[in-house]
Amino acid sequence: MKPAPAYTGYVFRRADLNDFEIPASPEHVAHVSYATTLMKSGVMIATVEHLLSALMGCGVDNTIIEIDSVEAPILDGSSGQWVALIEQVGIVELQAPRAYLRVLKRVEVSERDRVMSIEPADEFRITCLIDFKHPMIGAQRREISLCAGDYSKEIAPARTFGFVEEIEMLRQNGLARGGSLENAIALTRDGMLNPEPLRFDDEFVRHKILDIIGDLALCGMPVLGHVRASRSGHGLHTMLLSTLLRDREAWEVTNVQPYQP
Ligand SMILES: [Zn+2]
Repeated sequence: MKPAPAYTGYVFRRADLNDFEIPASPEHVAHVSYATTLMKSGVMIATVEHLLSALMGCGVDNTIIEIDSVEAPILDGSSGQWVALIEQVGIVELQAPRAYLRVLKRVEVSERDRVMSIEPADEFRITCLIDFKHPMIGAQRREISLCAGDYSKEIAPARTFGFVEEIEMLRQNGLARGGSLENAIALTRDGMLNPEPLRFDDEFVRHKILDIIGDLALCGMPVLGHVRASRSGHGLHTMLLSTLLRDREAWEVTNVQPYQP
């Protein structure tokens, strides 16, 4: 990750393809079943959501992300290592007013029993419910505010999870190439394969919040709005963002500093 001028947003640069640039933006979202993939002129960057989540969670608004591969490193399946690296190098405050995407009216999208909405708020708040018929998960609900600085401790360490059969399928599709117990919670029918315990009792819903933050980071600036998500996935996250952005009365870009707790 390299410094970038104000209002750059997040731009991926494929170092292995003559520095071809793909801005993180909803118009370049290509494929979103298990991971969020960006594509521009046939050039792809897969699995960008954890890295984007770390950037937004740490309050980074502008950066060039150089990468020499088609997929962002999965690391341990969370955004904890990205956050540690960002905190280690530090963030420079630019001499320009911060631009926020302020939600002005409620927008909702749904798909069968999956529902997601965003409504006006003076901060970026997420209320998330997941419900998996699995003895280790069940129904989990959590709410966080990004302004409260909870991201690095409460959300970033939460790992991605998958069912053993699905991980096999991901590999067949060329994703999760380094997939192993080191970078995901691997769920079996009634337990998990990982020898170490969960990092939180509700690590699963925390990771879902991590994904929501990463997918909404595709708007390229901090969001002022309250997201409510129920049984959502990458497809619904990006659908909410594109539905919101298509409705020109539902949002504005503002430089007004919101209330900070
Ligand atoms: Zn994820």
